[in-house]
Amino acid sequence: MLAAISARHRGAAVTLLERNPRVGKKILVTGNGRCNYTNIKADYRCYQGENPEFARRALEAFDSEATMAFFAKLGVVPKVEDAGKVYPWSDQASSVLDVLLYELENCGVKVVVDAFVHRIEKAGDQFCVELADGTVVTGDRLILAPGGKAKPSTGSDGNGYDLARSLGHTVTPLYPGLVQLMLEGSFFPQVQGVKIKGTVALLDGAEALGREQGDIIFGNYGLSGPPVFQLSTLVGPLLQAGKTPVLQLVMIDQLTRAELTALLQDRFRQAPGKTLVFSLVGFVNKRLIPVVLREAGFTDLKRPVGQLTVAETERLVDILTNWRLPVRGTKSWPSAQVTVGGVVTGEINPETMESKLVPGLFFAGEIIDLAGRCGGFNLQWAWSSGYLAGEKAATL
Ligand SMILES: Cc1cc2nc3c(=O)[nH]c(=O)nc-3n(C[C@H](O)[C@H](O)[C@H](O)COP(=O)(O)OP(=O)(O)OC[C@H]3O[C@@H](n4cnc5c(N)ncnc54)[C@H](O)[C@@H]3O)c2cc1C
Repeated sequence: MLAAISARHRGAAVTLLERNPRVGKKILVTGNGRCNYTNIKADYRCYQGENPEFARRALEAFDSEATMAFFAKLGVVPKVEDAGKVYPWSDQASSVLDVLLYELENCGVKVVVDAFVHRIEKAGDQFCVELADGTVVTGDRLILAPGGKAKPSTGSDGNGYDLARSLGHTVTPLYPGLVQLMLEGSFFPQVQGVKIKGTVALLDGAEALGREQGDIIFGNYGLSGPPVFQLSTLVGPLLQAGKTPVLQLVMIDQLTRAELTALLQDRFRQAPGKTLVFSLVGFVNKRLIPVVLREAGFTDLKRPVGQLTVAETERLVDILTNWRLPVRGTKSWPSAQVTVGGVVTGEINPETMESKLVPGLFFAGEIIDLAGRCGGFNLQWAWSSGYLAGEKAATL
């Protein structure tokens, strides 16, 4: 939509082809229905892919300020929240979609819905786009922005990669990103729904590949929540490479190990007759206590804490600060917010978003091998790359 508007603003005759009965379905589910449509801290370092620097030019051409100004002009008042996340003041994702639909119509983009593009060919300097019903649409420039594979029910089911391949482009391996992590541990069903604030790190052997802090939610399969989502984008490639990544959960991340040890020892000294399982009430989430104790190797949870040895207290401290949970995998595409991988950036000119292989073909959005962090960065990439592709497609 941004690409279409940007090209139309520069005088091109634009047709937008959308397979669904309406455009922009995915926008409605973004940001839990509130649409976190940009982040004031967006820059290329917030992206993952073979070459994150590829994103620099597009992000500069249409940055988060330009995005907020663009939407503000259409009526969306920006509200900046924690960590630079920006939402519409209305708190409704539909506002973002509504104003885009308004502008598509207002500036004269021809929108064709129920138009599934199933084949693209280039004959001379014309692109022939064949739809599923046999209709052929032609044009001298083509912007391919069919999204990735995440949340296929919104229309982005990965078919766009086949279209890119059919035009000679290469696609990297693809993995679900910003998604729940499935972890080893038979206890997970018991603690489903528990939410804590803590830190998680993704370990490959002794090396921490990433560390994130925030709300962590237990599910019957493993963990979710923004910090877990953030690390999930690293998991697919690791598992593919035959590695066995481990999630380190730091439940108590506000105290040093020594402070936590002293706190527990003090707590146990003050009420030595309390059972082990009761001794943590008020400090650790109650549903987690028996699980944490068993994971720390305790079998008799009714033991009075006065009997604990220094080594046993240390074992408890270990679990609370360094719980190691082997990663089985990630949840799959229907649960993912973004695609890790995509069309190889080396085949696209970052100054223009034009294909280096097929003159007149441009790319925008998630189809490109760039995945942003959680927090408005993926929509910002879609807007920025779309804006630049539209501008260059209309003017080059
Ligand atoms: C649940 C969820 C929440 C999210 N929340 C946020 C958030 O708050 N902030 C953020 O920055 N990002 C968020 N994202 C990510 C963000 O929505 C995407 O990265 C972004 O929408 C990608 O834009 P796109 O235009 O490249 O692709 P899409 O938005 O997927 O759009 C592609 C369009 O192409 C159409 N299409 C596909 N193939 C064809 C075809 N062959 N013919 C015709 N049409 C076709 C699809 O139907 C679709 O409408 C979220 C994603 C999900 C799933």
